[in-house]
Amino acid sequence: MEIKKGIGVSSGVVVCQALLLDEGEIRIGRRSIHPSEAETERKRLETAITAGGDEIRELRDSTTRNLGRETGAIFDFHLGLLKDPQLFETFILGIQRDHYTAEYAVHRALRDYGKVFLDHPDAFFRERVKDIYDIERRLLQKLLGRERIRLSVAEGPVVIVAHDLTPSQTASLSRTQVRGIAIEAGGRTSHTAIIANSLGIPAVVGLENIAHEVATDDLLVVNGYSGVVIINPDEATIHEHKGYERRQIKYQNLLNSMRDLSARTKDGVDITLHGNIEFPHEVDNALSMGAVGIGLYRTEFLFLAGEREPTEKDHYAAYAEVIRRMEGRPVVIRTLDLGADKYSPFQDQPPEANPFLGCRSIRLCLGNLRMFKTQLRAILRASVLGNASIMFPMISTPLELRQAKMVLKDTMEELDEENIPYSRHLRVGMMVEVPATALVPQPYVRECDFLSIGTNDLIQYTLAVDRGNQRVASLYSAAHPAVIKLIKNVVWSARGGNKTVSLCGEMGGDPDFTILLIGLGLRNLSITPRNIPAIKKVIRGIDTREVQRTVRRVMSFENAQQITNFLREETRKFLPDIFAEAMSGRD
Ligand code: PEP
Ligand code: MG
Repeated sequence: MEIKKGIGVSSGVVVCQALLLDEGEIRIGRRSIHPSEAETERKRLETAITAGGDEIRELRDSTTRNLGRETGAIFDFHLGLLKDPQLFETFILGIQRDHYTAEYAVHRALRDYGKVFLDHPDAFFRERVKDIYDIERRLLQKLLGRERIRLSVAEGPVVIVAHDLTPSQTASLSRTQVRGIAIEAGGRTSHTAIIANSLGIPAVVGLENIAHEVATDDLLVVNGYSGVVIINPDEATIHEHKGYERRQIKYQNLLNSMRDLSARTKDGVDITLHGNIEFPHEVDNALSMGAVGIGLYRTEFLFLAGEREPTEKDHYAAYAEVIRRMEGRPVVIRTLDLGADKYSPFQDQPPEANPFLGCRSIRLCLGNLRMFKTQLRAILRASVLGNASIMFPMISTPLELRQAKMVLKDTMEELDEENIPYSRHLRVGMMVEVPATALVPQPYVRECDFLSIGTNDLIQYTLAVDRGNQRVASLYSAAHPAVIKLIKNVVWSARGGNKTVSLCGEMGGDPDFTILLIGLGLRNLSITPRNIPAIKKVIRGIDTREVQRTVRRVMSFENAQQITNFLREETRKFLPDIFAEAMSGRD
């Protein structure tokens, strides 16, 4: 039995067999063939390519059925590679000219091809190397007659173990088969972690070397509360964690029974709980968890999961679906937040030394008006179908906000000229996720209808900690007094200016911060839907007058750990501590 400590990013406990995605490469020796064998090798190769293609198409189709077209499309790169005539030519040259076996020809060609991607200055292309290796393994296993373990047909439930998963890969995992995730990379609010949480899969990230220490079929305990993963646990540990699993199901049922209750404090203050989504099909789950609106629709996933740059029609279809499904309830559509850790294959971007501080998000949109306006037109057109608002991400200066609003106004005028209707009452807001805007929010309060605090980025920029880097993850804390002061500043300014302010970062979905956030004056939270019942439970237990005492205490502390400990204690008064043991070890 071995215990590994990482960061719990999606709650829940699971005891289950591992499936290693970064399985060791199959070593293919260089063996020559006689020229007379070339035709046989070519046929073997063609059969392998056909079988590999069928397998990928099957995977794409089942992913599309389960998780939507955008997610299924991530396999199109694999299919494109298999169909690439140039690559096929290289394989054939290996067989006919160099007298390689089909296996070695595939191995050689794809390794060389991979190197080109690996050396590419653009992180997006470097990332694609994983897909190339995946194709290599798939073809080799076909050639060698060994079945590759496929997620779509994996027998029984598994815990995925890997070095890293992209947000799109995580989104393509089947919830029924993938019971847990244990990966080496990532931080608390990396986008992979956020997706795992939306899918409700217990996940631990930042596990050093786990992909080397675990073999497929090892038994694992994944504790998404404490961030602990136990490899090949002993009987007593299995028993203990199976107990957590059972209690968790009971607890979830208890929380789910609160779906229809109001999020009202003991003294009668209503708190609005909205859901965060990345894909239109998540709306039903958000509603069933009790969301009364969508407070953050991360539209960039339309780009991240698609096989081509979305057209206005694609944008429109996605927004119309969300707005229609919400039947008049509010939907906040955030404009594209691409860049940094969310690269799209369609961005022709020069490499940047510090992409999180570079041309990402609204900066990227203002530099690419064609792309930006395409999205704005679609949002505006869909706005007549219900209650939509628009939100600009990562605004860092008032000028940037004005420019974004100007582009929106231009787009409205274009639609007017074309006699295309849109909602003239569309509310326009922005995310406060840069310390500069949080420190001096007044100009934005004046010029926006609403603000939404994006703590995921606000924390990384305030504390100078990359949100996706496991090596500095221990420094990333929502409880840092500087972060809390910034939130307080934004809330007070917005309320002073009579504007709605909400918070849509992961901090809002952590029950340990609910008392503090309500105490700071927030009345609107947008969170991962599965966290809504727990947050509601805390809200229903508190009295907004009494929580002022909690806020004063928090404001008197000077370090994050004291604040974390204090808030955890306070929260346990309202949420049952059935997970206290499961949580032990959490930092
Ligand atoms: C945030 O930064 O807090 C946020 C909600 O947006 P994202 O996580 O998509 O950056
Ligand atoms: Mg953000």
